[in-house]
Amino acid sequence: MQEKLGFIGLGIMGLPMALNLRRAGFTVAVYNRTRERAQALKDAGAFVCQSPKEVAEKTDIIFTCVSDTPDVNEVLFGKDGVAAGAKKGSVVVDMSTISPESTKRFAANLKMAGVDMLDAPVSGGETGAIAGTLSIMVGGKEEVFNRVLPYFQKMGKNIVLVGDNGAGQVAKACNQVVIAVTIEAVGEALMLAEKCGVDGRKVREALLGGFAGSKVLEVHGNRMLNDDYKPGFKAKLHRKDMGIVLDTAKNLQLPLPAATLVTLHMDEIIKQGGGELDSSAIFKALRKN
Ligand code: NAP
Repeated sequence: MQEKLGFIGLGIMGLPMALNLRRAGFTVAVYNRTRERAQALKDAGAFVCQSPKEVAEKTDIIFTCVSDTPDVNEVLFGKDGVAAGAKKGSVVVDMSTISPESTKRFAANLKMAGVDMLDAPVSGGETGAIAGTLSIMVGGKEEVFNRVLPYFQKMGKNIVLVGDNGAGQVAKACNQVVIAVTIEAVGEALMLAEKCGVDGRKVREALLGGFAGSKVLEVHGNRMLNDDYKPGFKAKLHRKDMGIVLDTAKNLQLPLPAATLVTLHMDEIIKQGGGELDSSAIFKALRKN
């Protein structure tokens, strides 16, 4: 019997992810707080629900992709939340990027109601979400992972069960450290080129073929050179992720000096009203200093 799928949170990421599930032929019920965002799913044949609770009542596997830890808490356990409607034996798959510690708590709370949970944050941005080529980092039990894998495969390519609940979010925190620090490194390199009077475009082109080559140099480097910071990944969301990184490290008394420095540059950009810009806009902060 084919399982019925639910999807809650149709933002930059959630909308194309849910569309990929629907276009693969699955029965999909969706909810988005701002109703208009659900129109594309309705047009594609998905059922639009009035609440997360209704999504849970109508489906077996409920995906969530909302902004931050308190938002996942609200969607799962708030008034008319998923927990109020979920059937025993159903699965919640949270694809948002949130705190690993809170994730463990959410999973334990759901388990008491007979509902399994996977944390399954993603990397690959809007382009990866549209193309169905996301990296998906999963935390949870292997049998639950295997049950959800066919659906993950419609949204992503590199799908790894990292460990138990929370481990997927830890992997995502590690991912965000690498991306943030690399954005800073690319920004500093392009600034050095500029100050030396050398064409940054040529420097980027030369570096892309060697060990310094990376997706960040390719994509974010291009944004910096074009001074075009249309998101992509909003600076305020990347800052939210760095908060998760630094809180997790602080609890372990682990200093992360490079991650701390980039976070300060993100704060600067956000203070200047750039929270909605792509996070590569920290290049603006670097240039000013
Ligand atoms: P986004 O475009 O800002 O969308 C956020 C979504 O969450 C919207 O559907 C929003 O509903 C919903 N939402 C937020 N708070 C809510 C609440 N309290 N109750 C109900 N719905 C709520 O963000 P996004 O870029 O899709 O990111 C979603 C998640 O994926 C985040 O955790 C982000 O860190 C992660 N992520 C993003 C990227 C990326 O490149 N964008 C890449 C990897 C991971 P409304 O429409 O009503 O506001």
